Amino acid sequence: MKTLVINTGSSSIKYQLFAMPAGTVLCSGLIERIGEEQGHIRHIRFAGREALEYNNQAPILNHQAGMQQLAGLLTDAEFGVLAGASEVELAGHRVVHGGEHFARTTIITGAVKKTIENLASLAPLHNPPNLTGIRMAEKVFTRATQVAVFDTAFHQTLPEHAYRYAIANKFYHEHGIRVYGFHGTSHRYVAKEAAALLNKPLAECNLISIHLGNGASMAAIKNGQSIDTSLGLTPLPGLVMGTRSGDIDPAIIFYLHEHLGLPVNEIKNLLNKESGMKGLTGHNDLRQIAANADQGDKEAQLALAIYTYRIKKYIGAYMAAIGPVDALIFTAGVGENSALVREMAVTGLEHLGIVVDKKRNQAVTGQGDIAGRGSALRILVIPTNEELEIARQAYALVNAAG
Ligand code: ADP
Repeated sequence: MKTLVINTGSSSIKYQLFAMPAGTVLCSGLIERIGEEQGHIRHIRFAGREALEYNNQAPILNHQAGMQQLAGLLTDAEFGVLAGASEVELAGHRVVHGGEHFARTTIITGAVKKTIENLASLAPLHNPPNLTGIRMAEKVFTRATQVAVFDTAFHQTLPEHAYRYAIANKFYHEHGIRVYGFHGTSHRYVAKEAAALLNKPLAECNLISIHLGNGASMAAIKNGQSIDTSLGLTPLPGLVMGTRSGDIDPAIIFYLHEHLGLPVNEIKNLLNKESGMKGLTGHNDLRQIAANADQGDKEAQLALAIYTYRIKKYIGAYMAAIGPVDALIFTAGVGENSALVREMAVTGLEHLGIVVDKKRNQAVTGQGDIAGRGSALRILVIPTNEELEIARQAYALVNAAG
């Protein structure tokens, strides 16, 4: 079954076409700078070991034009793999916020679209473009069953004592202010991979999943279910991120406003776009920061210490929340590639049964276990694959339904 996974942003459409259930990637690409003066399309067709790439710079008027170009590329004689857009039978859309309405992957109906629209107040930058992507795909891929896969869904199993904030009850009951969490598709994917590596059913696995990309979050997974997570109502709290602060004293916001006269919009921008590693070092790419630290840059060294100390605190907290843990999982750009961050994050946790093998940690590529002798916990590095997870969930849903 040809399954198209679509991730629509405010000015971009990222996609992968899979042959399911095998999970083979047939094409992938990124259509970006939609609506800007100059748009850009990068499309790759995979055939066995060969990859054929198409690149083009031209204005892309709007998302509808972008989606039509995508259909054109999928059916192109040279770069495509389909005879017609009608061969796409299934479209899996990444939707950031499902609120409390969506605890699982869902076939898209008019009512589902309305709910996604109503949830825009919780994810103003993401849900509206996600919905646009759905509407455009419905027009262009008319034969496909459209399915929504929510970033928040995996965390709908959090118990109430974990998802409620200690503010007046009406803010939860009347306004839905609570922990939702994000990166759920990634946490779920690596948890399933970890279960396979541990040779146990997921429902018997206790895991701490550490997703370190530009955005970063951790999930406490007990018996295969998320019981706590570090992002909250929004993707701002928790770990130190590329440009987001993670946890801070909320009263800093009042201080910035009352004593420094910063307007709320500026504070919002500061905490989301100018903080985290960027605020501490001027850079948000960890490769640069690690290289600077290596050359003796004190700010870069301190930033890495703050970044990894935060991860360490959450490991401790989640071990307390879960009970006996089978494995830690490092994933996403930084987690998969930075041996330095992994080592700093777990060093000094030997008393908790966490012992890293420095050589294995340096040597690992792709998937691997970097735990050392005497470690009670496995320390896994697992490349995430959110697109494949979306395709699998969409496929499983329509096949169960059909
Ligand atoms: P996103 O959250 O945008 O999906 P990714 O999971 O791709 O992000 O992670 C991107 C981040 O991964 C980059 O900001 C970069 O800091 C980091 N990264 C990628 N490769 C390496 C590497 N070899 N060493 C350290 N960090 C890396």
